[in-house]
Amino acid sequence: MPTTKTRKKNANHSSTDTDQQLEKFFVDALKDIYWAEKQLTKALPKMEKASTSEELRDAISTHLSQTEEHVSRLEEVFEQLGEKARGKKCEAMEGLIKESESVLEETEEGSMTRDAAIIMAAQKVEHYEIATYGTLAQLAATMGRHDIAETLGLTLNEERKADELLTEIAVNGINWKAEQESKEGVMG
Ligand code: ZN
Ligand code: FE
Ligand code: FE
Repeated sequence: MPTTKTRKKNANHSSTDTDQQLEKFFVDALKDIYWAEKQLTKALPKMEKASTSEELRDAISTHLSQTEEHVSRLEEVFEQLGEKARGKKCEAMEGLIKESESVLEETEEGSMTRDAAIIMAAQKVEHYEIATYGTLAQLAATMGRHDIAETLGLTLNEERKADELLTEIAVNGINWKAEQESKEGVMG
């Protein structure tokens, strides 16, 4: 019976074990995003260089500086937890970065279609980060670590702003230009 099973499970795990289990999960998730942010400091310059429009290059370059700050903030959080700052390979970010590289193979250099594709790849990255920091900040608050929740919240806001800016850049010109250039391409 499920009730018996649950009771048995609870009997085997003291509340201290349960607390540690959540904290361990939390630290593992921090390692994942720490690895991801560090990889992004290498991937973003490539995306910036591949972009054609100045607005997009500026946005990526600004977010690169923020990303370096995100790495430092995570190191701060590890310290606040008395843990060593260590990364653990994030399969999701590895895949998203690969995708950002493959769109360069699939689009022409100097085209707005390439910029539109880079924006999509970058927004996929931002959404992964928003999900991660959103969850981590909430968990930190639940565990009573409001200091950590606040630090993670700062990064969360910057990821959200970066995502919004990318949407703006796309809808205020790049998408339209990409459509125009593809029409010209067909006609010419
Ligand atoms: Zn970040
Ligand atoms: Fe991951
Ligand atoms: Fe980001």
